[in-house]
Amino acid sequence: MALTETLKQHLNDVYNKCIHCGLCLPTCPTYNLNYREESSPRGRIRLVNSVQNDQLPLSDIFVDEMYFCLDCQACETACPAGVHFGELVEEARNQIAEEHREPFGLRFLKKIFLQNVLSSPGRIKSAARLMRFYQRCGLNDAVEQSGILKIFSNQLCEKHKLLPTINDKFFDEEVAEVISPNGEVRGRVAFLSGCIMNVAFADIHHDAVDVLTANGFEVVIPKKQVCCGSLHAHNGEIEAAKNLARKNIEVFERFQFDALITDSAGCGAFMKEYSRVFADDELYASRAASLSAKVKDISEFLMEIELTKKPGTMNIKVTYHEACHLVHTQKISQQPRQLIQSIPGIEFAELPEATWCCGSAGIYNVVRYDDSMKILDRKMNNLASTRADIVVTANPGCHLQLQYGIRKYRLNMEVVHPVSLLARSYRS
Ligand code: SF4
Ligand code: SF4
Repeated sequence: MALTETLKQHLNDVYNKCIHCGLCLPTCPTYNLNYREESSPRGRIRLVNSVQNDQLPLSDIFVDEMYFCLDCQACETACPAGVHFGELVEEARNQIAEEHREPFGLRFLKKIFLQNVLSSPGRIKSAARLMRFYQRCGLNDAVEQSGILKIFSNQLCEKHKLLPTINDKFFDEEVAEVISPNGEVRGRVAFLSGCIMNVAFADIHHDAVDVLTANGFEVVIPKKQVCCGSLHAHNGEIEAAKNLARKNIEVFERFQFDALITDSAGCGAFMKEYSRVFADDELYASRAASLSAKVKDISEFLMEIELTKKPGTMNIKVTYHEACHLVHTQKISQQPRQLIQSIPGIEFAELPEATWCCGSAGIYNVVRYDDSMKILDRKMNNLASTRADIVVTANPGCHLQLQYGIRKYRLNMEVVHPVSLLARSYRS
């Protein structure tokens, strides 16, 4: 297996660091599905090394194992030796893509969705407008109610239900490039509108801007920003991810701001990694490092500043699901809980196994639906046990997966972003 220099370096780091202790195994959702060593973090590290050293071929089994992994990075949190497993699996996927060894379905999805649609803001909006028409004209309901997709497969019928509902208006088309607060300005922040969030979660973005301005921050939303590239990077499309990241670096550095706020865990995690991704790039290394240093998840930012606007009372029971890219990648765990519990009247119920992946994992629930549903089962049983009215989570993928699970399990629960909960409390 011909490896990139970066992967070789990472493999060396992993081997030097991994002490084969196995502490990561109980935290790995895929190992806990089949209890096979090769589906564990430790086993996968060994697999990649064996393929690198030509002791094993780059076989379909190897490819399957690299994509069975959720890239949830729970193993990184558990690892006492500081092994950065996520970087390893992403590099291995990149290598698999370069050698065109992905299964046909995955390659097709990546070609259409990652390489064509998500790589261009114009194409994202065109695709979203088409989908919005499909959802509003009654065709979407007719397809769901008739179950016509079952003719092709039951899975296709279920995957159709995972589609996000497109907003009536896209976020970036409704807001000015600079939004000032009423009254005294405490600081200036930039804001990532992103790709899917911009067209399907505009309400969360509006809540974020409302909360930031209500607390005295001017918000800059550059019109020319693009998708952060995280889905590309996690699925073996590192060059496409870097192209998007370069564009964002160039766009954001035209503005002055104290912090770059994201309300999507996956986007924030990858933008914090721009510095690592461009570490060897003469032209972009320092520019990427300076942007990454300013990236803050919105809960992280709000818990660092003093909230000058105090939350209103909400008499509801709330629980919290930790998005992998928030807890395991960004190590942000307490701040969203603090934010929720800062709202008077809320009864907070701790979710058992809150840090266990929900099975969404980017496009995992589409390309590995059956495995994703086994992981979702565990999450939904835990969610049901809380009897909460609302489950709070901070990533669009988790949001859609939990909404799907709630419908499937007929729970009476709503999925809400932490900043939307705070915005609601302001309105209450
Ligand atoms: S916890 Fe870390 S050191 Fe131990 S086996 Fe897993 S990856 Fe290796
Ligand atoms: S990233 Fe997640 S699924 Fe993959 S090996 Fe680590 S814990 Fe297991």
